[in-house]
Amino acid sequence: MSSSFQTVVDLDATAEDAVAHGARVAAWLVGEAIVELPQYGPGPRWERATGFREARGSEGLSVVTGRTVFFSPQHVGPPVCPHCAAVYGEGHREVFSAVMDAWWETGRADVSCPACERVVPLAAWEWAGDGFAFAYLGFEFRDGPALLPEFVTELGRLLGHRTRLVRGRI
Ligand SMILES: [Zn+2]
Repeated sequence: MSSSFQTVVDLDATAEDAVAHGARVAAWLVGEAIVELPQYGPGPRWERATGFREARGSEGLSVVTGRTVFFSPQHVGPPVCPHCAAVYGEGHREVFSAVMDAWWETGRADVSCPACERVVPLAAWEWAGDGFAFAYLGFEFRDGPALLPEFVTELGRLLGHRTRLVRGRI
C-alpha cells in the first residue's frame, strides 16, 4: 500500500540552523496541542492542521533535517527561473540531474538560466507543480487529509522563512 506525504519545506533554513528552527516550531505545535509527544502524533487540537478532529489515518508529523531532496513523483513539472519566470525547456533533465548530484555532494550548485542568463543556485529554482525542493528542513505529515492552507501559511510565518509545500505518494 502506498502512503501519501505533505511536506512544508523551509527554503531558507541553513545546514547550521535547521535543527534549531525545526525544534522551535515542533515545540510550538506541541504547545498548541496540534501534535503530541512522544512521537508528534495528531493531538487534541489536530483540527487546526486539517479541519478534522480525528486523525483520519494521519500519522502526524516528522521533522526532517539535514540536506534533503524533497521530491514528489506525481507533481514534478519543469524548472522555472525565479528571476525571469522562463520555463527551462528541452534538456532540463540532463542538465539538472548532474547539478542535483553536485548539490547532494557539496550543498552548492548553480544552473544558468538560458533565457535571462543569470546564474541561479539550484535551491533557488522554482518548479512547476512544486515537485522539488532542495533544503535542510521539512515538516512532513504522512497520510491523512490535506493540510489547511492557513495552517501551512502559519508554519511559514512561525519559521519566518519562505516555504514550499511538496506533496505526493511514495
Ligand atoms: Zn531567467
